[in-house]
This record gives sequence, C-alpha cells and structure tokens, in this order.
Amino acid sequence: MISLSLSDIFEARRNIAGTAGDTPLVPSPHLGALAGGEFLLKLETTQPVGAFKLRGAVNAVFKLEDATRGVTCCSTGNHGRGVAFAARARGIRAVICMSSLVPQTKIDGIKALGAEVRIVGRSQDEALAESLRLCADEGLTEISPFDDPHVIAGQGTIGLEILERRPDIATLLVPLSGGGLAGGVALAAKTIKPSVRVVGISMDRGAAMHASLAAGRPVEVEEVASLADSLGGGIGLDNKLSFRLCRDHLDDVILVTEEEIYRALQTHYFEDRLVCEGASAVGAAALIAGRLGDLAGPVATIITGRNVDMAVFSAIIGGADVTLGDYRITGAPYAA
Ligand SMILES: *Cc1c(COP(=O)(O)O)cnc(C)c1O
Repeated sequence: MISLSLSDIFEARRNIAGTAGDTPLVPSPHLGALAGGEFLLKLETTQPVGAFKLRGAVNAVFKLEDATRGVTCCSTGNHGRGVAFAARARGIRAVICMSSLVPQTKIDGIKALGAEVRIVGRSQDEALAESLRLCADEGLTEISPFDDPHVIAGQGTIGLEILERRPDIATLLVPLSGGGLAGGVALAAKTIKPSVRVVGISMDRGAAMHASLAAGRPVEVEEVASLADSLGGGIGLDNKLSFRLCRDHLDDVILVTEEEIYRALQTHYFEDRLVCEGASAVGAAALIAGRLGDLAGPVATIITGRNVDMAVFSAIIGGADVTLGDYRITGAPYAA
C-alpha cells in the first residue's frame, strides 16, 4: 500500500522551490463580512501556468527515475499544462491526452509550452486510456493528475503554506475532483493542526469523489459539462491513494449548483477583482449559498486556477444566460 506523510510534503516543497509555490494569501473583505470573520484566498492563479497543478507536476517530474522516453498524462487542462511546463524545464517529451470537453484556451496553453496534445473521446476515462496506451507502446511514463504520491505531495505544499502563514485558520475550503489537492492539503493541514476543519467542495452534477465516499469505494459517475470544468472526471475504479486520503482526512464534502458557481464567479470578479475558473469559485459559492454551517474562526479557500474560457467568463460577468451541454443557467447581472 502506498503511504504518504508530512515529511513527503516537506520534501516536495524543497523539490519545487523556485519553480512553483509561495503564492499570496489575501483577505476578501466582502466574503469575510458574509462569513462573520476573516475569509482568505490562496491565489494559485499567480502560478506561472495559472493553476496549482504545477506543484504536483513539477514534483512528479523531479522524482522520475527514468525520464528519457518522456511523460504523458490525461488532463482536464491544468494538469496537462503543469506537466508540459515541468517537462520542458527538464528537457523531455510530454504528450497530453484530453477529452473534447476541455476548453480551447487550455489546449492552446499546453501547445504553447511545446507539448504534444491528443484530443480523444468525450470523457477523462477515454483520455486516460490513450495515455496508458502511449505508456505501453512508446515507453512514456504516466503522471496521474490526482492519484500519484508525488503529485499529491506537491499539492499538499499549499496546506503547509496556508497554515504556516496563518496558524489560526479554523476552516479550509478545498475544491474537490480527483482528490489529489484535497487529499494532500488535508494530510498536511491535519497533521500540523488536527483541529482544523477541511471541507471538500464539488459541483452537484458529476461529483465522482462525493459519490465514491458515499458508496465507501470508488464508483463511476456520468461526466457532464460544468462551469467547474476542472472538477470533471472520475477518480478511477482502481484508485490507489487519493480516495483513501479524502476518506480519512476530509471532515465534509459539500456540493454546489451551477447557479451558485455562476454567482460566486461574479462575486469574486466584482468584489475581489479576481478572474478565476468555476472550479476555484466553489468555496465562495458554498459560503454565499449558506451551506457551510457555523464557522468557528478564519476561513481560507484555494483559488485553484485562472484558466477560464473568456467567452463564458465574459457572459457571466455581463449577467447573460450560459448553456452547458443540455443544461441552461439563467443569468442575472451582479448585485451585491
Ligand atoms: C485539478 C483542479 C482541481 C481539483 O483537483 P483534484 O486534485 O483533481 O481534486 C481544482 N481546481 C482546478 C483549477 C484544477 O485544475
């Protein structure tokens, strides 16, 4: 059984230092007023690839034993960008496999880093199958977006940074998909401060980790288009580590609707002057929707990325309706 501990997360921090990490933690006065205390934003939007996934990708590429044939991964966009960045820095080949649900802006960002891109099928599972085929046929090494100990240790460095800067944090709100981020952050945070409450937050349509935790084992869910596109995809039926970490360390998993994410994106933009992805706004969405219950002290959430489709983002800022597959979000202009 693979295990991971706080010392792996400290080691990851040394491995990624200078390339990824040390992002700002800033207060949101507006959300703080709603929370009845401080509400802090960990700005992973300031990473060189615009998302926290760089941490895990850089650590995993650093830890490769044999890097000569190159690396491959499946991705909803940001992991691919992180792997492409890390591979370029180490001078090795990277092939990123993605489904057709991935926004064009993310595909362009990966190509600009010099990686090869394969668009296959309509789900993360199909993209993963292509990535595994490349490992078998061409000898590439797969780097899982969330179920790899080095990736999880890299993401966990966010938990270290938050609690070192602010040991008084009482609640951590973590966007949740495959659980590499939440698993790593919760492991770090709870080891340093067992009393901290760590809450995973996903969209209510297609939340694979939530369904899996409820079932007590990894289960499949149907993948649908969401404003939180970075939170789509399954957790893998043969999940080795991230499911266990989330099961053992998360206090709660909360789901938010597309309408709540829409509203939270407007709030971050108009109140915090922040451009971020739907996946990053789920913490604010849960707060605004009143889903968090009593908050016993300062709250921090992770603004995980800024690689949003600007056409969709502009529509939301303008209060227009947004269509996602066969689902329509009725828009409204922002009013505080
Ligand atoms: C990947 C990602 C997440 C979720 O991370 P997991 O480790 O898959 O749970 C959240 N936000 C953004 C922007 C991401 O790219």
